Amino acid sequence: MDRKAPAQDEPLFVTRPQLPPLEEVMPYLEEIWRTHQLTNKGPFHEQLEAALCDYLGVEHISLFANGTLALVTAMQALRLTGEVITTPYSFVATANALLWNDLTPVFVDVDPVTLNLDPEQVEAAITPKTSAILPVHVYGHPADVDGLQDVADLYGLRLIYDAAHCFGVEDEGGSILRHGDLSILSFHATKVFNTFEGGAIVSPDARAKQRIDYLKNFGFANETTVVAAGINAKMNEFQAAVGLAQLKHIDAAIHARARIDARYREQLAAIPGIRCHTPSTARRHNHAYFPIFVEDDFPLSRDELYFRLREHGIRGRRYFYPLIPEFPMYRNLPGNDRNEWPNAHEAAERVICLPMYSELGQEDQDTVVQAFNPDEI
Ligand SMILES: *Cc1c(COP(=O)(O)O)cnc(C)c1O
Repeated sequence: MDRKAPAQDEPLFVTRPQLPPLEEVMPYLEEIWRTHQLTNKGPFHEQLEAALCDYLGVEHISLFANGTLALVTAMQALRLTGEVITTPYSFVATANALLWNDLTPVFVDVDPVTLNLDPEQVEAAITPKTSAILPVHVYGHPADVDGLQDVADLYGLRLIYDAAHCFGVEDEGGSILRHGDLSILSFHATKVFNTFEGGAIVSPDARAKQRIDYLKNFGFANETTVVAAGINAKMNEFQAAVGLAQLKHIDAAIHARARIDARYREQLAAIPGIRCHTPSTARRHNHAYFPIFVEDDFPLSRDELYFRLREHGIRGRRYFYPLIPEFPMYRNLPGNDRNEWPNAHEAAERVICLPMYSELGQEDQDTVVQAFNPDEI
């Protein structure tokens, strides 16, 4: 398969969506055109659910049109009310899903090293209105799952993980997705595993999955019974077919990411003022992102470096900046005060995610690192 590399003068983006060889997708498309089964629990949908349970090492998974609808539906499934404690340091969809459920996000600070929610800060923010905790395993690094579960158990709270960055991540006990009441995945184009758009909810048991499957299909329990004001969030057969083809290449893609990660760390270690994000504690990591911190002893500020990289054709991203609570629809929430999350604020001011995708070549990587060279600054 002749896989076209980006042209020399094309920028290096923070990611380049992974695509399976087209000829491996064609037989699936031919089958769809033969059967005319386009959506609604089609054969590829069912195959992908089974294949993902197997690959990820989980028992119950429900496929979704995208990760945001999976988040919105997970909150419906657990019937959350009032306040939900979450992180300011994430992609905006995490908190938007709360607003779509008429829930009030309460943002608390993250751990300065992992950038994941700090259970102590979570505990301190609990009020009589709190119904759940919504942590993110940010950059695919496992959150403090034991500490968070302890707080949830002690106060009788639900625990939903936004695991959008976590495809394939495992801790000592197995899949990171087994923790909490539900975990949400995203299969967006930019994620480690993509179905163009897509997502999933991982459930602990068959009953939870069943309710979620009703909710994603208008609330239909059977032909004539509607048990909830469900939404339409179904994954279609085209997405599922792409997923089946992608899955055959995912191990190779994650291995390639691991090599790129190691090489960046080696090359950037020599540059004063640039600190790589601490390596993940996961037994199996997916290297979804490569965040660096621009420290005070680097000759340029984070933003100066960001724009300098752009001049060199390198489109890093300031993930996550601004913090979610700094967007206008969150700004005036009670208790929302930027002094409340100094660690998240510090990270938002210092981080750049460098290009990271399985097809990033060594020359491209050298181009990225060269742009940091203090002699050129
Ligand atoms: C990508 C992402 C989402 C949203 O997923 P979509 O599939 O794009 O809707 C939610 N949360 C986090 C942390 C993400 O990175």
